[in-house]
Amino acid sequence: MKRISKLGLSIIVSAAISPTAFCGADAFRPSPEQQVKLGKRVADALRKQEHVLPASDPRVKTLRRVARRILATFDERDAVWEYSFDVIDSKEVNAFALPGGSTFFFTGLLDRIKTEDELAGVLGHELTHVRKQHWAYAYADSERRNLGLTVLLMAVRANSNIANLAGLTNEVVFDLPFSRKHETEADDGGFDASIAAGYNPEGLADTFEMLRQVVKDGAPPEFFSDHPDDKNRIKRIEDKISASGRNFPAQVPIDY
Ligand SMILES: [Zn+2]
Repeated sequence: MKRISKLGLSIIVSAAISPTAFCGADAFRPSPEQQVKLGKRVADALRKQEHVLPASDPRVKTLRRVARRILATFDERDAVWEYSFDVIDSKEVNAFALPGGSTFFFTGLLDRIKTEDELAGVLGHELTHVRKQHWAYAYADSERRNLGLTVLLMAVRANSNIANLAGLTNEVVFDLPFSRKHETEADDGGFDASIAAGYNPEGLADTFEMLRQVVKDGAPPEFFSDHPDDKNRIKRIEDKISASGRNFPAQVPIDY
């Protein structure tokens, strides 16, 4: 997600979200409701500032159709998230989900995706970042580092949610890196979501192979700034496919 800043997004997200009682959870971690509110603000700004393709565009239709198929496999625990799916017209080879569920794909990535199964794998990966609240955990970690132990202990004693999103800039949303652990978890989520929705999880591995080729060809590898080029990652997915002992349906070509 880091590279989005180069698109010129310069808004300040002044989400005036007052602290609320938040018993039993990490006091530094924004609540799901806060994540949705913040993500929607950034998404609205993006839609104003970037060239977002209309709903009639075949790429938007395909993205939303595959996304619906995946969302249909989620249960009621997912009701807290407010998903949306948009396509930004840009050569950037990337996709990202904002906290709370607003998801954006760039045409630079979509135009290289050849099957619905590949698309499902990337969607499943990004939606896992949302569902597992990876941004909120990364935010809480950085706040703990910034504020130090004294404040942490005070917060724990007060047992209140001190996540303060007022004045957050877009950089805070876009520049918090996901840990390798979260990326692995997102790969697993992409694998599981693909299978649950009736897609072939080979699509996810194929997408990573394609991205490696994009890098070799000299195109900007934005996706790998968040998703490091890692052969082990592809092998891991292949191993999971073998270990499942299952035959998956042939991948469905995307034909715009
Ligand atoms: Zn990721």
